[in-house]
Amino acid sequence: MDDAVLVRATAAAAAMVRSTLAERAAWLRAVADALDARTADLVAVADRETHLGEGRLTGEVARTTGQLRLFADVVLEGSYLEATIDQAAPTAAPPRPDLRRMLRPIGPVAVFSASNFPFAFSVAGGDTASALAVGCPVVVKAHPGHPELSRLTAEIVTGALATAGAPTGAFALVEGYEDGIALVGHPAVMAVAFTGSVAGGRALHDLAAARPAPIPFYGELGSVNPVVVTGGADAARGASLAAGLAASFTLGTGQFCTKPGVVFVPEGSAFERALAAVDLPAAGAMLTDSIARGFASGVDRLLAVPGVELVSGSADGPLVVAAPLDALEAHAEELLAEVFGPVTVLVRYGSDERLLASLDKLEGSLTATLHAEESDATAELVERLETVAGRLLFAGWPTGVAVTWSQHHGGPWPSTTSQFTSVGATAVRRFLRPIAYQDAPDAALPPALRDGNPLGIPRRVDGVLGQV
Ligand code: NAP
Repeated sequence: MDDAVLVRATAAAAAMVRSTLAERAAWLRAVADALDARTADLVAVADRETHLGEGRLTGEVARTTGQLRLFADVVLEGSYLEATIDQAAPTAAPPRPDLRRMLRPIGPVAVFSASNFPFAFSVAGGDTASALAVGCPVVVKAHPGHPELSRLTAEIVTGALATAGAPTGAFALVEGYEDGIALVGHPAVMAVAFTGSVAGGRALHDLAAARPAPIPFYGELGSVNPVVVTGGADAARGASLAAGLAASFTLGTGQFCTKPGVVFVPEGSAFERALAAVDLPAAGAMLTDSIARGFASGVDRLLAVPGVELVSGSADGPLVVAAPLDALEAHAEELLAEVFGPVTVLVRYGSDERLLASLDKLEGSLTATLHAEESDATAELVERLETVAGRLLFAGWPTGVAVTWSQHHGGPWPSTTSQFTSVGATAVRRFLRPIAYQDAPDAALPPALRDGNPLGIPRRVDGVLGQV
């Protein structure tokens, strides 16, 4: 990797730490406007490289630019800084100094973009937007699944940032496996955001931890997104739930990190009968050859588990398989590992007690979904699902992640490597470092902490949250 990329990013970091909230909001909006203006060109290149289709890709550009504008709002609102002031109390016992705490940018951030969202989780996606928003330069490692699109997006982002007055070096793109490794090991990089496989994320996480100066690694990895259908829900609407699952696990040819990959259903369910009769869509092209190979070997692994039966579809995908709880107990590792692509596993349970016990076998997921009636949505069931996932859905399907202030797109290992989200307003928290200033003269403080609240942002003063 050309070392000049990080030299420029380091220089930009020094300038960006002094940038105002309004300046950074303007940079993000400039990037959003520039991407919107080039939607047709971007979608044409993306469709050629990813086969995701014009409709989906056009929507994803809008989601991406909406995301950039949300982060502009987050910056201007200012509560993300967590500005907190405890005024001096010289007569207290013991006396207390004046202490003022806030969050500051961590420094240059490396972003590994995803294969399956060529806009929203790629070059100008949520990781890039949230790092730039809080004043961190970004170096993106392009995903090899859409190289031309990555270059075109980077060109648009770089141009828009320059026109809007952002420092040179605020953004850069690198390509190739070796450059990715070099980026994680580079002493100027202060954090890494990654979206991809468990194996790749784990390798890069360990590399970040093994550096002479370890850095935080925020990985969004693999997730099976369990769904539970209770007996009550099955009796009330088993057939419509089956249609909902079929649409959700085949969306984007099943290449969503939130795809429902394992569904617990009562034995002899109307849900399973309806699913066996649903017309599944034809198999779409997969994003990359390696993802296609991973899907084929994942399906082979599932079909080789004793007790697994084909419910619908074919091994080429999409397909639904089913297994009794006994098979899950003996082969949890094979049945509960993510298979990225259009396949879902039904697990048939005979009693609520056995269902609850089997949920303990689940690893961490981005989401968990409960389809229940009021009478059988027990607190125990909800608590069990809460322990495995970062977003708990009641009814509905997990594909589709709204970009809002309250969103959480994360979960226990292996769905992520941290407690943070990569989607929604609080995604910025990953790229911030707390600092407390003790007895600092007003002029030495960042404006967010100065007397009189010159930025007019929400602050906590002597324990009370307000706008003072
Ligand atoms: P991947 O193989 O992990 O690749 C992702 C990126 O990491 C690529 O740029 C790749 O670079 C790099 N990489 C992977 N292993 C590496 C290693 N050992 N050392 C250095 N760099 C490495 O992932 P993918 O195949 O593109 O995506 C599919 C997977 O991503 C699925 O399992 C899916 O669940 C997951 N995913 C998760 C989310 C989420 O939000 N949790 C979203 C989308 C996808 P090179 O290719 O250049 O080597």
